[in-house]
Amino acid sequence: MTTIAFIGLGNMGLGMASNLAKAGHEVRALDISADAVAKAVGAGCVKAGNAKDAVGPADVVVTMLPAGKHVELVYADVMTHARPGTLFIDCSTIDVDTARKVIDFAETNGFDMIDAPVSGGVGGAAAGTLTFMCGGTDDAYARAKPILEIMGKNIFHAGGAGNGQVAKIANNMLLGIHMIGTCEAFNLAEKLGLDAQTFYDIASTASGQNWSMTSYCPAPGPVEAAPSNRNYQPGFAAAMMLKDLRLAQDAAQSAKAATPLGAQAMALYALMESAGEDGLDFSGVMKLINGSL
Ligand code: NAD
Repeated sequence: MTTIAFIGLGNMGLGMASNLAKAGHEVRALDISADAVAKAVGAGCVKAGNAKDAVGPADVVVTMLPAGKHVELVYADVMTHARPGTLFIDCSTIDVDTARKVIDFAETNGFDMIDAPVSGGVGGAAAGTLTFMCGGTDDAYARAKPILEIMGKNIFHAGGAGNGQVAKIANNMLLGIHMIGTCEAFNLAEKLGLDAQTFYDIASTASGQNWSMTSYCPAPGPVEAAPSNRNYQPGFAAAMMLKDLRLAQDAAQSAKAATPLGAQAMALYALMESAGEDGLDFSGVMKLINGSL
């Protein structure tokens, strides 16, 4: 049995921590929300009163926090309470620079740490089927892998510190772009008199085929399980996509990488936010494209 401090028990963290507890580990749950901690205790975790109580006895610390500023704050505190040899795993989606800075800080203090952002959503967190994209040293990754395998199905080592975040934001930028392109194509076809199903039958076997079309079609009809068939209820909310597109643009600026379509995708999702519709699934950008938002 490993003693694991789990910090950040929100939509994602709760399912992940529950799976670690179910696997027989002692999971010491910490969150600024008493309600989140109570749910974790209900799922088999142990309540931790503060950072020292959570981290002091832990072999491994897992964090699942909203953004870079929370991660920086939490680790500055947590590392003062950790025993030598404690392994840190940050699963939050945050900016690459902060991920690299926090890992550098951990290593300077003699700790192994990886960034390990996920895809797979709340359903994947609950089912233990997440994909983890990891950045860090070979040793830190090898230590983390058995823990990640309890929470996920596909575990990748993307390279050095921060490379997990790089993989995550580059992938999601591409997803945002091809989702919008797919919406434009279905809208154009419909305006010119071609129904969604017929266009889908043709394009899904032609060169326009892509994941947004065949697994998550933004036009109602062709893909039964897609959010477009239930009024664009998420799924993966437009607000989360916008967060990832903003991270991608910040990273592109600092790396001087040209991402004109990523910038345009971010602007379109920001319009959904301004309209107060960013709680819709990200495929709901169809409503912006076809004028029904
Ligand atoms: P969430 O807001 O539901 O959970 C975050 C939790 O962190 C909350 O319970 C909050 O109280 C807690 N928290 C904040 N500051 C804290 C602090 N200083 N100390 C202790 N706890 C603190 O968010 P979520 O949906 O679980 O997402 C978490 C991360 O996972 C984000 O970075 C998000 O981008 C990423 N992510 C989310 C999804 C998704 O579908 N929700 C998918 C992939 C990745």
